Amino acid sequence: MTTLIQNATVVTSRKSFAADILIDGEKIRDIRPGIPSDSAEKLIDAKGMLLFPGGIDVHTHLDMPFGGTTSSDDFETGTRAAAFGGTTTLIDFAIQARGTKMRDSLDTWWKKADGRATIDYGLHMIVTDLPEAGLEDMDQLVAEGVASFKLFMAYPGVLMVDDATIFQALSRTAKNGALICMHAENGSVIDVIIRRTLAEGKKAPIYHALTRPVTAEAEAVHRAIAMAEIAGAPVYIVHLSSEEALNQVREARDRGVPAFAETCPQYLLLSVDELARPDFEGAKYVFTPPLREKHHLPKLWDGLKNDHLQVVSTDHCPFCFADQKALGKDDFTKIPNGGPGVENRLQLLYHHGVNEGRLSVNRFVELVSTTPAKLFGLYPRKGELAPGSDADIVIWDPQADHLISARTHHMRVDYSMFEGFRVKGNARAVLSRGEVIVDNGRFLGRTGRGAFLKRVARGGAWD
Ligand SMILES: [Zn+2]
Repeated sequence: MTTLIQNATVVTSRKSFAADILIDGEKIRDIRPGIPSDSAEKLIDAKGMLLFPGGIDVHTHLDMPFGGTTSSDDFETGTRAAAFGGTTTLIDFAIQARGTKMRDSLDTWWKKADGRATIDYGLHMIVTDLPEAGLEDMDQLVAEGVASFKLFMAYPGVLMVDDATIFQALSRTAKNGALICMHAENGSVIDVIIRRTLAEGKKAPIYHALTRPVTAEAEAVHRAIAMAEIAGAPVYIVHLSSEEALNQVREARDRGVPAFAETCPQYLLLSVDELARPDFEGAKYVFTPPLREKHHLPKLWDGLKNDHLQVVSTDHCPFCFADQKALGKDDFTKIPNGGPGVENRLQLLYHHGVNEGRLSVNRFVELVSTTPAKLFGLYPRKGELAPGSDADIVIWDPQADHLISARTHHMRVDYSMFEGFRVKGNARAVLSRGEVIVDNGRFLGRTGRGAFLKRVARGGAWD
């Protein structure tokens, strides 16, 4: 099957230019102006549209157990919602249960995704303990395409690991070429503050934010980067939320240290005020790190523009308000941590970034697709519009008006963090490996068509 997309503007991380794209099977075969119409079986007229490489969201939690419940999107509903928003690749997190082998957890997550994913996906592995044998497991996982690991400096007793474990993991990746992702918050300090706060009878959602100070994030970012420097390995800070944490990354990068960081739309567009909403609605915004004071927001936008931040992901981890967030009705520490967003990332970043003059359209593509592909070992198969790359293509209508709402979104969750946000620019059609899976608001993909992506070690973080 050959498809020709005509009359569009192709947008890559480097340039925008008028051209047609010829697709042969699952791959892009040619990109240039004036490809003859008779060279393809199927024609798509994309006049007035922009063509982006498919979005890559490197931070999602589908079908994830947390605090006695499970995130409400599974690999079927989560990947479908992602596709509607122009994302054609996810990298989700498998979690090693304490005291078990990481390799077994990989099987568990493959079972969750197999037969359900509608777009391609990779997996990171969350490391919760690391005996000597675990170091060899890391190498084996890298060989199987799990080229990144995540460790937590927060959630003591659940996910948190000590500095020795982090340093061991970083040192191993210095050899095997994987990338370590860090959840950087000082969990031990936060735990003490939480216990004090509960003892004072403060149990409303707002205290989730007030017990997790900015300095606890900045300190952990500093420590993570310092340990990576000693180990001689790159490091990637997930969901960076504050100016002080950003300063740590910038300072390291200015010295030539291979430190990388992502932020998420919620940290760019929402503030801690959301957690003070009445009627327990603040629980909709309970995730970690928490939302910050408003003055952080422009600093994070500047960070994206100036490459102090390299990626925008979502940390999509939905829990329904009615019956899941409600678990913490009387105690903010029992509110499942997470929020939905996988469908809205491109819409929000395009509107508030490109339309509002904060980012060029090429930088936008770099942040949502090209750099994620490079850092996580998918480039140039993903994240690029070029001959030989997978035909993962977003046909973007820059004039489309879209109202974000839980009433119309495709995520399996009963609220939107961005309810009522009006954006200009949305995916008109989405192709995954040459197949049109979303067209004009209709889903044409097939459950289970998404493939596991074996990612390569020593991606763009190691240049
Ligand atoms: Zn996360």
